[in-house]
Amino acid sequence: MGNDGGTINKTHGLKLDPAKDNSQSTAGQDLREFRETSLWKCCRLTNKRLRLPVVSDSRGHLLNKESVLEWLLTPKREDFNEEQIEQFAHIKKLNDVVNLHGLQELDDGLLCEFSGEILGNTSVRFAYLNTCGDVVPKTSLTLLTEMQCPKCNIAFQKQDIITLNPSAQELEALERRIKRLDELGVHHNGKPKSTKRKKTNENHAEGKLKKVKKPCKT
Ligand SMILES: [Zn+2]
Repeated sequence: MGNDGGTINKTHGLKLDPAKDNSQSTAGQDLREFRETSLWKCCRLTNKRLRLPVVSDSRGHLLNKESVLEWLLTPKREDFNEEQIEQFAHIKKLNDVVNLHGLQELDDGLLCEFSGEILGNTSVRFAYLNTCGDVVPKTSLTLLTEMQCPKCNIAFQKQDIITLNPSAQELEALERRIKRLDELGVHHNGKPKSTKRKKTNENHAEGKLKKVKKPCKT
């Protein structure tokens, strides 16, 4: 993708090493750009092309709902590599993802209906609200005077803004939110987690139950 030729270099906190080979850094940049683009075009779980319906987890990954269902239906994760298993261990239920709305599937990728732009083809940062799942440019949420979804008018709080493919700093904020949700016993989509907490007791009880289990009546 050529863009306009004026690539913005994000170099905060990055020490440039003058001794580094130029060709290598160009290749590195190409690879970075490729990865950056694929974040918006491919499901992070299966690397397949993103196709509606698309969902997202608490860390702002874009995922095909079909892939998540596949993930949830294969508890042994036969078709996934170690990295994926580690990276997506937090997706244990469908409640750990949110259905995304306001997207259209085009040949070029996913179109944000609200802004008319294709995700990943623009420098616009996108986010969704975990309250309604609407995907809009992040600035259209952070610059609001009234905290209402610009698309469907549902009220939201700052913590409901989930940045898609977040930067390291944005990810930190999302991690803090995840911690808070864990403490509150709430899933990413706002639904309460099951309150069965005393696992050891439960297992114990289950064991006992198994022992006294009577054979089926014939
Ligand atoms: Zn909305």
